[in-house]
Amino acid sequence: MTTKGPSRKHIIIPMSSENVSSFMKNSSLNVTNINRQLRNAKTDILVDYIQSDNNGIIIVTNKVAQQSDLSIIDQYMKTSNDINSLQVEDLRLPKSKSYLKIIGILYYPHANSQDKLTSADIGTILQQNHIFDNIILASKPRVIKVSPKSDMAIVWIDIWDVQSSQNAKMLINRCFNVGNYIATIRGANMNPGIPQCKNCWRWGHMTFSCKIQGAKCIKCNSPHKSEHHREFGWCCKGNSKLNPPRLETKKGKPCPHSFKCSNCKGDHQANSNNCPFWRHCFNREWHVKKYAEICENRSQSLCSTVNNKSNQ
Ligand SMILES: [Zn+2]
Ligand SMILES: [Zn+2]
Ligand SMILES: [Zn+2]
Ligand SMILES: [Zn+2]
Repeated sequence: MTTKGPSRKHIIIPMSSENVSSFMKNSSLNVTNINRQLRNAKTDILVDYIQSDNNGIIIVTNKVAQQSDLSIIDQYMKTSNDINSLQVEDLRLPKSKSYLKIIGILYYPHANSQDKLTSADIGTILQQNHIFDNIILASKPRVIKVSPKSDMAIVWIDIWDVQSSQNAKMLINRCFNVGNYIATIRGANMNPGIPQCKNCWRWGHMTFSCKIQGAKCIKCNSPHKSEHHREFGWCCKGNSKLNPPRLETKKGKPCPHSFKCSNCKGDHQANSNNCPFWRHCFNREWHVKKYAEICENRSQSLCSTVNNKSNQ
């Protein structure tokens, strides 16, 4: 199934993750510079903001860009010092998204190991296969087990397409090798899944409609930006008063401590595909039930603390 894209006021520029992070470091300066060039060219479109996603950056504009505007932005990207232009693909306006699934892939692809197939594995598999050469993923592939006792996976992929579903039509029913097996691509119904807020990491609302005033950390669920976890997360801050004292995590090193998922409280990042919430991201009923359960447990534990206090 193919739908219209998110908004034609988005300009998508696929690029490597190193490019994304160095470009995003100066995002406000880049917005100013691009807008200066657009004004000089006397066009009436302006960039509102730039955001990153898994595959590159998205430039959000106040109007739908014309080809001449795209050329200006393209030129800016290619001469930017922040990025290696060899790793930047041509920019494009979003058109439509097509929803596909891939079947016939093992859920545990590694011999003698219970390691599950990951989105990153799928990224590699797609890259190695020529039938995906001109295909751009619109979001991270989702890997789901066919059924609880199965050893096979269903992989959902969303791709950028045109309204006539040209890319999807090219892919549907094609086969390709994955390890010793043959995988097949099928069309899928539009099932955008439940959104996860990238600000508080709860499921069920989009980032722009998040109601909390600050931000929650994807690692420890405390009120700080995830990228500042080392400086603000209690686990990574040194504490010499503890016995044994806790050492500070070195700059540039990942947090070696256990994580606390804001949704299931498990030891993983809040967007991890090990999280049961992630695994059920197409199952609205499950989410609603699970959040209700958590809410109930929380109010019970609040009750028991109050009771304990009053018994003391
Ligand atoms: Zn939120
Ligand atoms: Zn944190
Ligand atoms: Zn830590
Ligand atoms: Zn979780």
